Amino acid sequence: MAIATINPATGETLKTFEPLKDTEIAAKLNLANQAFEQYRKTSFPQRSLWLQKAAEILDQEKADFGKIMTLEMGKPYKAAIAEVEKCAAVCRYYAENAADFLADVAVKTDASHSFVRYQPLGVILAVMPWNFPFWQVFRFAAPALMAGNVGLLKHASNVPQSALAIADIFQRAGFPGGVFQTLLIGAAKVADLIADDRVKAATLTGSEPAGASLAANAGKHIKKTVLELGGSDPFIVLASADIAAAAATATAARMLNNGQSCIAAKRFIVEEAIADQFEKLLLDKFLALKVGDPMQPDTDLGPLATPDILQELDQQVQVAKQSGGKVLTGGHPISDRPGNFYPPTIITDIPLDAPIAQEEFFGPVALLFRVPNIDAAIKLANATPFGLGASAWTNNDEELSRLIAEIEAGAVFINGLVKSDPRLPFGGIKRSGYGRELSIQGIQEFVNVKTVWVK
Ligand code: NDP
Repeated sequence: MAIATINPATGETLKTFEPLKDTEIAAKLNLANQAFEQYRKTSFPQRSLWLQKAAEILDQEKADFGKIMTLEMGKPYKAAIAEVEKCAAVCRYYAENAADFLADVAVKTDASHSFVRYQPLGVILAVMPWNFPFWQVFRFAAPALMAGNVGLLKHASNVPQSALAIADIFQRAGFPGGVFQTLLIGAAKVADLIADDRVKAATLTGSEPAGASLAANAGKHIKKTVLELGGSDPFIVLASADIAAAAATATAARMLNNGQSCIAAKRFIVEEAIADQFEKLLLDKFLALKVGDPMQPDTDLGPLATPDILQELDQQVQVAKQSGGKVLTGGHPISDRPGNFYPPTIITDIPLDAPIAQEEFFGPVALLFRVPNIDAAIKLANATPFGLGASAWTNNDEELSRLIAEIEAGAVFINGLVKSDPRLPFGGIKRSGYGRELSIQGIQEFVNVKTVWVK
């Protein structure tokens, strides 16, 4: 895949980049490794100042950074601005809390003095996707750099300008040279990087095949990984719920980032008693969405990031139809304009045992399932290889307890939209990956948990 900015709203190639040569990759690796030796000795207050400066730059230049993202991957501009603000917030969160999260923890034992100390590991490789080109990187980088690690970013090939802008932010914020670098390289170079002794661990957000490949290579070299992969998140609506609120949030949850979010709600599982009502409300909301130029402030839904994503999504929709699914709206690409546009789409009546019902739809397509009761709802919610997030709607305490206890996912949000928050851990189970980002759990992923025992 060429490293290039191609505007998904027009198909126009705006800028192409030469991938780094092997000698350039080697030089950057060396620099990262050398930088770590000094950087690991810097204090929390010093790192915190640099990270707060990064937050300031993000806030001050959010209009420019937002534009880069929208031009590279098509998210609505207003959402891009909000993404930059969230990056500033995660920087401030770790700038304020990292010292406490990584403070020594005293443990009483037979020693005169025993405790746990958290120390950085070294160079961490981050392989990141295009869907949240800034947020995915900052939620890795803010804790990693506060912990004293240094970062190497291999960003998705379709967001090179975002990747370069992020490295520039850290440099301008005052972090020493080599503490955070972008490598403009294709995916084929990742295996060699993992194998390199100077790289101590890796994190990947993206597809299952990419995650499996990275983890297999890391396993060969006994290196820790964190994987944040796909999801086919359920959105359960039980009869006791506030149906109008559920339908409004369902629309936002499905259309988030033009439908291209791992934690977007994808399978809408609705109790039969209120299914007609919910379906009508959802359809009305989908029909009211404005599809168009993502730079326009009133656009709700922009293009998909690449022609491949569009094609793959459409193919899944056609398979869903062939499996018995009924399309209520949408169902084929928008062909009367350039760019990778797909309309808001609702598909009902897919047989529960059809393999397509278990797949992740990475675009504005909602699959609607009717179930007789909460037992069937939970069973269907769990009938997927994924386990990232789940949103469930109820006003009944007993149902609430069951939903929290029985849904197989890294996160359950009751009567709300699944979202990431710097204060809460984020990650999945099953084929959605392992490890956690954000919160105290996130910063403790890439550290040596050193046991100290003094007689
Ligand atoms: P990929 O998983 O292919 O891309 C994500 C990142 O991984 C990119 O930096 C990519 O580099 C890199 N990569 C790809 N293959 C490998 C590999 N074998 N070893 C190491 N790194 C690799 O995602 P796609 O863009 O192809 O999207 C496909 C699907 O992935 C989506 O439809 C969705 O299901 C899922 N996805 C999930 C995301 C999430 O947030 N969890 C985000 C994006 C996608 P390069 O760009 O150079 O290929």
